Formats: sequence, structure tokens, C-alpha cells
Amino acid sequence: MPDEPTVSCAWCGTTASPPPVTWTVQTAARGIEYLCERCTRDNVRKIEGSLPTDYW
Ligand SMILES: [Zn+2]
Repeated sequence: MPDEPTVSCAWCGTTASPPPVTWTVQTAARGIEYLCERCTRDNVRKIEGSLPTDYW
């Protein structure tokens, strides 16, 4: 059985092996970062929440 890489969430430190498909992989200055499913959702919410409210 091959060794699966263990990854840890860049935000909350949760680890998983192998990396779940629900995790987000992003390339950062330090290399590849993973965001767990929960942090991915929080991230999306933050992006949506950061939209200007006076858009209209
Ligand atoms: Zn996380």
C-alpha cells in the first residue's frame, strides 16, 4: 500500500490523509496550501461577505 501524503489545513491545522477531495488546494508563496472543507466554506462566506454593500 503506498503511503498517502498527510496534509494539514493552512487555517485550522486539521490533518487528513489522504487529502479529501472536498479540500481546497491553493498555491501560495510558501508552496501548496490546503484548506479543509469547513475552512473552504468559511473562506467562500468571507469572500461573499466582503462584497461591497453599496454595490448598487
Ligand atoms: Zn480548516
